[in-house]
Amino acid sequence: MSSGGGTRVRRLGVLITALAVVAAACAGPGIDTGGGGGTTVPTRSTVRTDPGVSVPDTGATDEGGYPPVPSSVDLPGVSGSTTTGETVPPARPVEGDIGLGDPYYPDWGNGGYDAVRYTLDLTIRPEQDLVDAVVTMDAVATESLLGFNLDYAGPPLDQVMVNGIEAEWDRDGQELRIQPVDVLPAGSEFSVRTTYSASPNSVPTVAWPQGVGWQAPRADLVYVVSEPNGARGWFPVNDHPSDKALYRFVLTVPEPLTAVANGELVGSTTEGGMTTFEYETHHPMASYLATIGVGEFTARSSPGPDGIELRDFVAPGLVGLATPALDLQAEMIEGLTPLFGPFPFDIYGALVVDSEFGGALENQTLSVFSGGMFRSPILAEEVVVHELAHQWFGDSVTIDNWRDIWLNEGFATYAEWLWRDMTEPDFDLDAFAVATADSGRPIWGPPGDPGPAGLFDSTVYIRGALTLHQLRLTVGDDDFFEILRTYASRFADSTVDTAGFVAVAEEISGRELGDLFDAWLYGDRTPELVGG
Ligand SMILES: [Zn+2]
Repeated sequence: MSSGGGTRVRRLGVLITALAVVAAACAGPGIDTGGGGGTTVPTRSTVRTDPGVSVPDTGATDEGGYPPVPSSVDLPGVSGSTTTGETVPPARPVEGDIGLGDPYYPDWGNGGYDAVRYTLDLTIRPEQDLVDAVVTMDAVATESLLGFNLDYAGPPLDQVMVNGIEAEWDRDGQELRIQPVDVLPAGSEFSVRTTYSASPNSVPTVAWPQGVGWQAPRADLVYVVSEPNGARGWFPVNDHPSDKALYRFVLTVPEPLTAVANGELVGSTTEGGMTTFEYETHHPMASYLATIGVGEFTARSSPGPDGIELRDFVAPGLVGLATPALDLQAEMIEGLTPLFGPFPFDIYGALVVDSEFGGALENQTLSVFSGGMFRSPILAEEVVVHELAHQWFGDSVTIDNWRDIWLNEGFATYAEWLWRDMTEPDFDLDAFAVATADSGRPIWGPPGDPGPAGLFDSTVYIRGALTLHQLRLTVGDDDFFEILRTYASRFADSTVDTAGFVAVAEEISGRELGDLFDAWLYGDRTPELVGG
């Protein structure tokens, strides 16, 4: 996410004032964003690897189909025979947990299953503000389930089916509780099909001053900006970044509108004045990054480096404004690849909407930008490289819990500085970092624990980036970029927490780095930068 406050203001010499404004603008009204709490870096990674249900991103997907989902996975509690021939009694069926215990939002996500793929079949009529939705989640039970939850804050549902049989369900706040007719055995694959015919809605969040998710500002425009919890406003979902899944979008819209979504366009047909566009993701994706856009867009495409397909969809009135920065995307990928490793996806580009939601969001393979982001050429370039860098850090490598949001924003902000270092001959990154730290020191809390309302506070971005710069000063350039490349590669298509990153940094550098991260991420006071 980028709020557009960013760091460009350093050039105007009013950094302190602007940072205060950013911090205020990004916080929920009346919420203390001071963070606090944890002051130590855990020593053990809690990286989730989902060995039983992870879906490879190569192979079968290249032929246009999904890779097979295992019909059963090795899970604790599954009945069967042991190697000694002893019979294990079947696990007692349970009700799936209503949350995943996220340190900031414990009720987000749900226990008892792993989502494998979502199919969002949406007929969208923006003029009538009406969506006919058929949403299917394919999942694997990780426990023997009597019932389970999805997160949902959207319009009234018409029907819920599990494995083709109508299920009992009820709603309580943002929870959708489902009771299938039959127990779902641990390790079994099941599908949940939900339908509605109504208008989706945005979802309030303490972390952003306006509702997130579905945005329908005009009769000819729909788009989606979901971070952190907007996905549940338009489809029932296991709405937590730790449960990534594949997505397929089947979007039917009236002519002459275009529908876009994450991933690759795999087909489009027009019939009776309605056009259906189908998109597929090739890599698992966090729910907050799922996006669509419906409107009149000017499509631009070009071959990118390393065979990457670059395509943008831009509101016609903004093409002239947005083109200069968007044209740099290929060069940005080329510049960042030696530092971060190969670009994680085979397709990328921007959706630029003629609507102001106050920033930009790094939706996987299709970042979305408010038109206003392009009014300043300097800001435009920074925001474009920021969202592009998130494809490595945030999208391919995804946070396992929301408290560790600095792993997204600190890295993307540091990419802005790396880009400046590459392209501005007079830019002195070391001097800039010292001045930035001095400017922000009076107002920043700990970026490693910004509080539930502080996900997008400036400390997460800028002190988060300075944490990386201190790491670089400490371990040297060679080890620093090897750390970034190893981290990006090891956790590609997966999730990670701060301890996972620290472990990579210590492994590559051979140094004990707990004190560094403890001070920079969790200390109340922003440390002084010290040379290596
Ligand atoms: Zn960001």
